[in-house]
Amino acid sequence: MSAIDDSRKFDVAIVGGGPAGTATGIALQNIGVGRVFLAEAGSYSKPKIGESIPPDTRKLFQRLNIADAFEQQDHEPCLGSFSSWGSAQLGFNDNLFNPYGAGWHLDRRRFDQFMADQFKQRGGHLACETRFASVSVEHNTPYPLQLSFDDQPPVRCRFVVDATGQSAIVARRFGAQPKMQDAMLSIAAYFDCKDTDLNALKLTLLEAINLGWWYCASIPNNQLVVSLTTDAHIAKEHGLKDPKNWFALLNQSAHVAERVHSLASPAHLHYWKTPSCLLNPPAGNGWLAVGDAASCYDPISSQGVYKALATGLKAAHAIADWLDSKPTTLAEYRQYIGNEFINYLSQREYFYQQEQRWHEAAFWLQRRAS
Ligand SMILES: Cc1cc2nc3c(=O)[nH]c(=O)nc-3n(C[C@H](O)[C@H](O)[C@H](O)COP(=O)(O)OP(=O)(O)OC[C@H]3O[C@@H](n4cnc5c(N)ncnc54)[C@H](O)[C@@H]3O)c2cc1C
Repeated sequence: MSAIDDSRKFDVAIVGGGPAGTATGIALQNIGVGRVFLAEAGSYSKPKIGESIPPDTRKLFQRLNIADAFEQQDHEPCLGSFSSWGSAQLGFNDNLFNPYGAGWHLDRRRFDQFMADQFKQRGGHLACETRFASVSVEHNTPYPLQLSFDDQPPVRCRFVVDATGQSAIVARRFGAQPKMQDAMLSIAAYFDCKDTDLNALKLTLLEAINLGWWYCASIPNNQLVVSLTTDAHIAKEHGLKDPKNWFALLNQSAHVAERVHSLASPAHLHYWKTPSCLLNPPAGNGWLAVGDAASCYDPISSQGVYKALATGLKAAHAIADWLDSKPTTLAEYRQYIGNEFINYLSQREYFYQQEQRWHEAAFWLQRRAS
């Protein structure tokens, strides 16, 4: 390994500056763990998907000591949701009586930037446009891990956190592999609704169809996101990455089509893999994974950001104990990730079981089988 000057030696290095990486960094700073470095491949300049967060995320903001600063960010409140699931009729789920109040539709680009700023304000070292390339280990030195980056000098650390999202690229270098439970795809369009009455669009809308399900939510900057979640083979068979076919299917929907009928159709579609998977193992000696790197949940759960923050908080304590030569909390962290995934799978199964209208449709047969 190359000689590295002391300014590039850290107690903890986090790779990935999404909500899981920054929450881990904030929590580490809050509990006084020494020098923490965070490498983020991007620069918080691009739009990002994953905006609906439930009301009880508030308690995680409080535990991270960022609740007041978050409120000042003025993200869109989400007062509840309509859904046509298990029936053609729309049902309404109101957040009014939720003890935590309303949820939110985040502007994800701005939210991720806010979290990175909170990490920096607490003394964390943030390096944007710093893409992880490899990790090597040298035993019997105070900083045994060396992380290399594309076009940036390496850093040394005692512990490394994989917060790279679905790719889990750091954990894979330690031999971990995601165990896939289900693999779906979401294809979305962003509608501009500058001249529209946004109040009518403020509630999330979910609509099951024979090929999968539609989701529609207003997001900040006068936009409406509409996405279709389905299986990759169904998307291929019906040509759903082609805007012409995607919009034709949208126009056949009973409820979502009504929300967008007066809006101009965007020219481009965006798509993402939306798997359900668990990293095996999610932690090992000197490393752990948080957020989507540790486990990915179906977007129907709206739990991705919540899980990112919750795992970040748990991880910080496991890391602090590991650095303090108390490794059992790391074993508990592994157990926690596994148990949460099992709970998630049973809730997801229950949810998909509520839709029984299309017994022969491939999408619903697959959900009942997985
Ligand atoms: C279509 C879709 C809809 C969704 N809807 C919702 C929703 O409504 N509500 C919800 O809560 N969640 C939703 N999610 C899930 C949510 O977006 C994720 O769970 C959440 O972003 C996970 O946070 P994370 O920090 O673990 O990973 P990410 O947000 O993916 O962040 C990972 C970070 O790592 C960086 N990175 C990657 N590789 C490297 C590298 N080699 N070097 C350095 N940095 C790297 C990336 O640039 C990125 O900033 C949705 C996801 C999808 C795909």
